[in-house]
Amino acid sequence: MNLFHSARLRLTLWYVLGIFFISVLFSIALYNILASEINRLAALRRVEVQDQLQMEGLFVPLDQLYDVTQDEILFVQDARTRLLINLLIANGCILIFSGGMGYFLAGKTLEPIQEMMNEQNRFISDASHELRTPLTALKSTFEVYLRDKKRNIGEADELIKESVQDVDRLSQLSESLLTLARTHMQKQHVRTRFSLSETVMQAVKQLGPLAKKKHIEIATHVQPVEFTGDPDALMQLCIILIDNAIKYSPSKKTITIQLASRTRSVDLAVIDEGVGIPAEHIPHIFDRFYRVDQARTHSTNGYGLGLSIAKQIVDAHGGNMKVSSVLHEGSTFTVSLPKSLRG
Ligand code: ADP
Repeated sequence: MNLFHSARLRLTLWYVLGIFFISVLFSIALYNILASEINRLAALRRVEVQDQLQMEGLFVPLDQLYDVTQDEILFVQDARTRLLINLLIANGCILIFSGGMGYFLAGKTLEPIQEMMNEQNRFISDASHELRTPLTALKSTFEVYLRDKKRNIGEADELIKESVQDVDRLSQLSESLLTLARTHMQKQHVRTRFSLSETVMQAVKQLGPLAKKKHIEIATHVQPVEFTGDPDALMQLCIILIDNAIKYSPSKKTITIQLASRTRSVDLAVIDEGVGIPAEHIPHIFDRFYRVDQARTHSTNGYGLGLSIAKQIVDAHGGNMKVSSVLHEGSTFTVSLPKSLRG
């Protein structure tokens, strides 16, 4: 916060210095032009007076006319002084105005950077929180075990088995964090022509055993589709959506995967008959670390990162992702990817 305030003040100072420098240069030029204009008018006036005196039969050389036009000389000097004072006042006003405007504009300039920094800080603190919780749990489990005087090999085996599961979850989390950071930085994905339908079928195959465990059937209506994009990222997108559909479906349900080629886009839909998402949570499910039901999701190994990774992948391909859901009846995630990516 302080960092931004001092950056804002420094930026304001630079704005003010810039505007004030231009304003002073402009005032000097204006003063010189107007002062020479006043001198020119005074000279013309002297010639006029000389002509008048000559008509009255009196010749006075110009350099001696000063006495005659003393009032005018005083007037000219006064005019120049007033011009100077007015310019000084104008510059003072510009200084104050540019200070206010500069402060406002500096705030506007720094706003997106500040938002980005806040988001980054939020991400880091959420990530460290997520990493710290299982690490603390692991550490205390080990400590309790070491304090136990009557420990035996069977308990040790059990403890190691549980710990390996926790470590797996941790490495899964760090993998997701890395993917999220990588896709966030890498706005421009690899673009190759590949068969998206094959990628979808590969994802289905990969998650087949998981679905089988819960007696879930995966029905596929996949048209052959050639697509230009990042095959690895799109494979990951399919895995995230299908994996969620399996995770959030009770056993013996059906998941339907549709892939269709339209005129301008390729549409992928993952439809499940699972628990559904309450309407008030739908706008947030793409946020990092957002979970609809903390307790429910912990038992399903979720960290709330999958959909934010999915959204980044869809965004990087210039597409959009929609979700419709009815509680206890199921959810449909629809991804629409344009065939030609602009830009
Ligand atoms: P997680 O790793 O927790 O699944 P996601 O980012 O993939 O994280 O999903 C965010 C939340 O959205 C999940 O915690 C879950 O509550 C909800 N969600 C995602 N997909 C589905 C789905 N197919 N059915 C019901 N809820 C879902």
